[in-house]
Amino acid sequence: MRLYPLIALLNLVTVRSAAEPLRVVIDPGHGGSNLGAAGAVEGTLEKRLTLALARLVRDEILRERPDADVRLTREDDRFVTLSQRTRIANDMGATAFVSLHMNASPDRGQRGFETYVHGAGPVVEPGESQARGPVDEILADLRREAMLAESAHLAAIVQRHLGDVLGPARDRGVKRAPFDVLHEARAPAVLVEVGFLDNAEEGPRLLDGRVQRDIARALADAIVEFGARREARRLVLYAQP
Ligand SMILES: [Zn+2]
Repeated sequence: MRLYPLIALLNLVTVRSAAEPLRVVIDPGHGGSNLGAAGAVEGTLEKRLTLALARLVRDEILRERPDADVRLTREDDRFVTLSQRTRIANDMGATAFVSLHMNASPDRGQRGFETYVHGAGPVVEPGESQARGPVDEILADLRREAMLAESAHLAAIVQRHLGDVLGPARDRGVKRAPFDVLHEARAPAVLVEVGFLDNAEEGPRLLDGRVQRDIARALADAIVEFGARREARRLVLYAQP
């Protein structure tokens, strides 16, 4: 069919003109009365470091993609509920929701970075079976599965980029955990533990401005890469004649 290339091109042009901007929500973990982990270095608190890191990540994303819409779930040291955090991502139709944390372990002996996606929650929410018909239920289930796959994809990209700057030996992998902040997000959502703040070796490193910038750049690179891959997939899907 001779018209085929023209139609394909027209479809592509149409979709390109409607290309989605990169919309990102960066969530600095904890805040206000919720202090988070206490660091190996006296007086260091997770809530302050996650905010500083979130600002750096925003700067790096905007440097790479000036057209991106990047929002933080808090701009200062205040308490924000988990629902308020995810609502920002849900309301803006975010491309990605990234919650930033720093870790602690009972014996302070652990080191490394890990990224979580939601897992182990109910497949069908309480009351949902009554509220929805069988087809709606299947569709809701498929949407959740698709979102989890997207989140796992984002998590894997984050781990790869962090490994480039922090060393693959510290890569603790992508894990699943029933974090509420991930469960309520209607966007690809991950929770990143960038390192162990309470560890005598790693804690002080996380306070180093150069290390913080490396981590921020790695996270920004990962988010921008994820956004580009997602957009490319969308273009391929919609460009089919
Ligand atoms: Zn935390």
